[in-house]
Amino acid sequence: MSDPISDPAIHAGEVSRRGLMLVLSSPSGAGKTTLSRRLLAEFPDLTMSISVTTRPKRPGEQDGVDYSFIDRINFDLMINKRELLEHAKVFDHYYGTPAGPVEAALADGRDILFDIDWQGAQQLKQEKRDDLASIFILPPSTKELEQRLKSRAQDSDEVVARRMSKAADEISHWPEYDYVVVNQDMEDALGQVRAILTAERLKRARQTYLVNFVKRLQDGQ
Ligand code: 5GP
Repeated sequence: MSDPISDPAIHAGEVSRRGLMLVLSSPSGAGKTTLSRRLLAEFPDLTMSISVTTRPKRPGEQDGVDYSFIDRINFDLMINKRELLEHAKVFDHYYGTPAGPVEAALADGRDILFDIDWQGAQQLKQEKRDDLASIFILPPSTKELEQRLKSRAQDSDEVVARRMSKAADEISHWPEYDYVVVNQDMEDALGQVRAILTAERLKRARQTYLVNFVKRLQDGQ
């Protein structure tokens, strides 16, 4: 069966639809990173927004892939030049979303995935409500969250403890999101996020090609 979202016969050379900003937020350790990776692997037309951060690189992280790692001076410069769509201090470090790639993708009809915290999600909602779909990922329990943070083994015990205490704060923002997924089982959670993405893509206002498509149908073509 052809996919009406990307079928070239239906779009007849037009930009098929307006891109969508899919925001994933959760406390650290709720499985957001794995979910993002799986989604990106599955949907070739979904692009990850690469944030800038002043946080030091963790082992295994790549500059320009996981984040663009910059210093505070350059971060402030980007704010002053209005190059960030949103920015926030999370734990002890600064994080922000470069605006350029997002605007380009939206205009091009590509979707962008954001792994940002509630502060960033709030700011994007103010700026881009119509282009945004936001999902909050909850862990199945506090114990499971702690276990996942410890098994990551990338952070020190002290950092894990601080992330746990921050988790409650992050979780308190769940009512601000359009959708909530409890990540008990990765495959189930992925299925739910996939369903959200598919439905959001099919929203009438996002299918910009429909006006001409329906016109052609009405003309008997
Ligand atoms: P981490 O240091 O573990 O990679 O990320 C810490 C937190 O910062 C996560 O909750 C992540 O979603 C959030 N974060 C990452 N990039 C951005 C960003 O560009 N903006 C905002 N507001 N939060 C971000």
